[in-house]
Amino acid sequence: MSTAGSRRPVDVPDSYHRFAGDAAAWLAAHVEELPDVDTDEGFAAHRAWERTLHDAGWSGLSWPREYGGAGGDVLHEAIFAEEYERARGPVRITRPALRFLGPALMHTADAAQRARWLPPMLAAGEIWCQGFSEPGAGSDLAAVGTRAVRIGDGYVVDGQKTWTTYGRHADRMFALVRTGPPGAGRHGLTCLAIDLTGPGVDVRPIRQVHGRTGFAEVFLTGVRVPVTDRIGDEGDGWAIAMRLLSFERGPDAGGPARSRRRLAALAADVAAAGPGRDRASDEREPGAPAADLTAIGPDLDRAAVEGELGALVARVHGYRCHTDRRVAAAWRGEQPGAESSVVKLYSSELDLDVVELGLDLFGDERTAEGTPEFLDLWHSRAGRIYGGAAEIQRTVVADRLLGLPR
Ligand SMILES: Cc1cc2nc3c(=O)[nH]c(=O)nc-3n(C[C@H](O)[C@H](O)[C@H](O)COP(=O)(O)OP(=O)(O)OC[C@H]3O[C@@H](n4cnc5c(N)ncnc54)[C@H](O)[C@@H]3O)c2cc1C
Repeated sequence: MSTAGSRRPVDVPDSYHRFAGDAAAWLAAHVEELPDVDTDEGFAAHRAWERTLHDAGWSGLSWPREYGGAGGDVLHEAIFAEEYERARGPVRITRPALRFLGPALMHTADAAQRARWLPPMLAAGEIWCQGFSEPGAGSDLAAVGTRAVRIGDGYVVDGQKTWTTYGRHADRMFALVRTGPPGAGRHGLTCLAIDLTGPGVDVRPIRQVHGRTGFAEVFLTGVRVPVTDRIGDEGDGWAIAMRLLSFERGPDAGGPARSRRRLAALAADVAAAGPGRDRASDEREPGAPAADLTAIGPDLDRAAVEGELGALVARVHGYRCHTDRRVAAAWRGEQPGAESSVVKLYSSELDLDVVELGLDLFGDERTAEGTPEFLDLWHSRAGRIYGGAAEIQRTVVADRLLGLPR
C-alpha cells in the first residue's frame, strides 16, 4: 500500500514490501471459492478457512502473540487486507472479531478474560457477535432496554437484541445492557459477554428481503451471566460501546480495492456496450452487459457516462487517500476517533453511487439474483446503516470535527 500520513509521507521499510509479496504469493496459492456463507455448509467452510489463515499466521497480524496473533502492527493488517481483496479472498466471518470486538476487549477486558476469550475468537473456535441494537434502540443506542439485574455473583439478563450479524452461528455476544434504572440514557449501561449456547437464549434468523439470513434476533430470558463475564466496570457500558464503535468505523484497508474492482467491472460493461445495436433484440444471459448505451435513456450518451465514470474514479482515489491517512495515523499510534466517520460516510456513499450508476445504465437485470452485482446492491445499501447510519456519521462530523452548534 502507499502510506501517506496526515502531516507528511511515511517511508515504509523494506520489510513491509517483502511482507506484501509473501502475502500475495500465499494468497495466490491458497485462495479458493467457498460455498455460500449463508448456508450451514458454507459457514462451516468459511470457519475452516479462518483456521487455515490462522494456522498459517495470517490472522490477527497486529494482535499480540500471547493471544495467537502475529505480533505485527496495523500496517501489516492493512497490507494483508489489501492483498486479500486483490486475491478475491472469501468473506471473513471473523471480521467483527478482528476489526472491533477483539480490539475493544484488548482495551477493556481484564487479563484473565483476554487470555480466555481472545485466542479462540481469533482462531474462529468461538464465534462472537455484537449485541447492541434492539427493536427500540438503533441510532439512539442510549435507549438500550435489555435489563441485567445483579443477583449474587452474577447477572440475570432479560431482553431482545436484533440485527445480530452471524447471530445464528455465534457462541458469545458482546452485549450492551442496562444495569441502572430504565430510561437513564447513557448512564447505567454495562457490557457483558453472554454465552449464547446456554439456557434462556433463543436465536431466530431474520430472513431479509433478498432471501438471506445473515442477521438474527436474539431473545434473552432469564439468562445467567457470571460477574467474571462482565466487560469493564458496571456503568461503563457507554464509554466501552463508543470505543468499540470507533474501531468499527475505523479504516478498512481492503475497502478501496473492493470499490475499485466494482467500478472496473462497471466500466468494462460500459466498454462492452457498443452503440448502435438494438437492446431489445440483444439476447443476453441475466447479468451480462447491455449492448446499447444509447437505448438506455434519451438523455444518456457515451460522453456523459464516461464523465460519470471518471468522477467515480476520482472518488475511489479519494477513498484510497482517506484510508491511507487513517492507516498511517493508526500506525503512528493515534486512536481512531471522529475522523473515522468521514471515511465511513465517504466510502458508503461512493459504493452506493457505483451500484446505482450500474442500475441506471443497465437496469434491473444487472442485479438478477446470482450475479455479483446482486449482493453488491444490498451490501452497498447496508453500508449506509451498519456501524451507525449515514445521518449519524454526519452528526458526528458536524459536532466533533466542525464544532457546529447542535
Ligand atoms: C449490515 C448490517 C449489519 C449489522 N450488524 C449489527 C450487529 O452485528 N449488531 C448490532 O447490534 N447491530 C447491527 N446492525 C444494526 C445497526 O447498528 C443499526 O441498523 C443502525 O444503528 C441503525 O439503527 P436502526 O436500524 O434501528 O435505524 P433507526 O435508528 O431507526 O434509523 C432509521 C433512519 O432514521 C435516521 N435517524 C435516526 N436517528 C436520527 C437522528 N438523530 N438524526 C438524523 N437521522 C436519524 C437514520 O439515519 C436512519 O436513516 C447492523 C446493521 C446492518 C445494516
